[in-house]
Amino acid sequence: MSKPNNPFLKEDGTKCTCMDMLQQMLDSEVTNEQRDYFKQHLDNCMPCYKTYDLEMTIKELLKSKCCGGDVPPDLIIELQAQINQKIST
Ligand SMILES: [Zn+2]
Repeated sequence: MSKPNNPFLKEDGTKCTCMDMLQQMLDSEVTNEQRDYFKQHLDNCMPCYKTYDLEMTIKELLKSKCCGGDVPPDLIIELQAQINQKIST
């Protein structure tokens, strides 16, 4: 059996953790391949699903509040720290 191709594999061949994948997805620096893989992963991984859903909601919220302008980086960092805490518990 061949392993499913994980487009999130790092250059040294190590597997990305959920956190690594989430980070990349939220940075929007992903290929279509990675996006598809991640969406499939969300179906099987509730913590990822919840976090991703939450992050996207926050992003949308910030976008609408800030009229598409720049969001203060401090705010993003603070929100992400709160989310990271939720995942690790
Ligand atoms: Zn996951």
